[in-house]
Amino acid sequence: MSTIVWFENDLRLADNPALHRAAVDGNVIPVFIWAPEEHGAWAPGGAHRWWLHHSLYSLAADLESAGSRLVVRKGPSEDVLLSLAEETGASCVAWNDRYEPALRDRDAIIEKRLAAKGINTVRYQSVTLHDPDQVRTGKDGPYRVFTPFWKKFLSVVDVPSGLPRPTLRETSPSEWPNSVSIDELSLLPRPDWAQGLRDTWRPGETGALDVLQSFADESITDYDRRRNLPSHDGTSMLSPHLRHGEISPRQVWNHIMANVPDSDGKESYLREIGWREFSYHLLDHYPSTPQEPLNERFSNFPWMDDDRVLKLWQRGLTGYPIVDAGMRQLWHIGWMHNRVRMVVASFLTKDLLIHWQEGARWFWDTLVDGDLANNTMGWQWAAGSGADAQPFFRIFNPVSQGKRFDPEGAYVRKRNPELVRLPDKYKHCPREAPADVLTDASVELGSDYPLPLVDHAEARRQALTAFETIS
Ligand code: FAD
Repeated sequence: MSTIVWFENDLRLADNPALHRAAVDGNVIPVFIWAPEEHGAWAPGGAHRWWLHHSLYSLAADLESAGSRLVVRKGPSEDVLLSLAEETGASCVAWNDRYEPALRDRDAIIEKRLAAKGINTVRYQSVTLHDPDQVRTGKDGPYRVFTPFWKKFLSVVDVPSGLPRPTLRETSPSEWPNSVSIDELSLLPRPDWAQGLRDTWRPGETGALDVLQSFADESITDYDRRRNLPSHDGTSMLSPHLRHGEISPRQVWNHIMANVPDSDGKESYLREIGWREFSYHLLDHYPSTPQEPLNERFSNFPWMDDDRVLKLWQRGLTGYPIVDAGMRQLWHIGWMHNRVRMVVASFLTKDLLIHWQEGARWFWDTLVDGDLANNTMGWQWAAGSGADAQPFFRIFNPVSQGKRFDPEGAYVRKRNPELVRLPDKYKHCPREAPADVLTDASVELGSDYPLPLVDHAEARRQALTAFETIS
């Protein structure tokens, strides 16, 4: 029997149930189909495309060294799968489940159309540790609060061991179908703005396994103490690898359980993996949340529409150093520290009163780890409209957040070179520096570095007034 294995968010050989099963059953035809329009409003953004280009090269090389190939085609997916089945005589298409609502709907249609032509389909669960239907409340519904979700998760989910990399030498079809080259997908940015990404990341399965290994060996024990400090390399930076499925959450979980002695750091890290499970649980049960607030009350929130202010936030020119450092880090390396994501999201939605969807879209375009489940949950959490959300009236003060989590100012200094000569005391609040201190540091506010876009205390008052209109 020949099986087409349809890769999409699972660009790896190890612990890949669809690939593994197909290799046991007979011949394997691995295919990646580029069909960005099938993602609906959430077509892959620029940073995602950059990552994908390199990840596909890595997957193709890994398949070749295992004795197989990656067939690359341009969509529509349904047409490609049907014609590949005809060209190769494959009687089955296998893939690992996707939870993005547009892809889930597409997959359901494709499944029916393939069945109508007599082609079997097999789907596997591997993007999360649990099947989102497996963890249910006492009333048999989905959870909306993390802590009880996690407690239940730990009591009902048994994470199985991962699957080995399959040997594919004996599984090639007698003749390989045509493929376009990865370059023909034109995924790389023109003009080239990706230097910071190249300097920071190594997309692909080997890069992902190396990151996991060194984090588990060197950093996880201190994770609980350092995970909130953006100037430290205290988090794993595995998110883009997980996003593209170069490593499975099961591999991460099992590696840590098997190799890391118990500690607060280990427990805290596994809990963060739990937040990822929770976000997929939410997306699966509330598929409209990428577009709509989970808390319906927020449908009538009086968001402001101000393109100029939105652009200043996007470019890291708000005059609040921690916010600007975060936005510049995002632009430069396609990733931002979680603590700073929370601060910039709170600033956009509460200080600037701009709709969380604007922030979610910007993140989507610029993040190498842009993930519909995590991004939606993160933005709705920050805006106060999501599950287990930060209550709207808890508004982060960007100056005190900076002083608390970046006390030496190392993070803001690195990303805001204009402020490098300013004494540490004023790194998070240049506006409070006396005129002679600013002169000595060669900072003219409004010229070298922006004046604050809003006064936080006043902005906070306005946000609370806006909130009263929906309370
Ligand atoms: P680590 O701290 O090492 O955590 C390990 C893994 O756990 C992460 O790779 C991630 O898969 C998961 N994880 C950690 N924190 C969270 C969280 N709060 N929610 C869900 N999963 C989590 N994460 C994304 O992967 N993609 C996104 O598009 C995304 N958008 C976000 C938007 C906002 C506004 C906020 C506040 C958070 C967002 N996050 C997103 C969650 C989080 O910021 C990132 O997962 C984390 O910063 C990735 O870095 P890391 O791999 O070093 O994380």
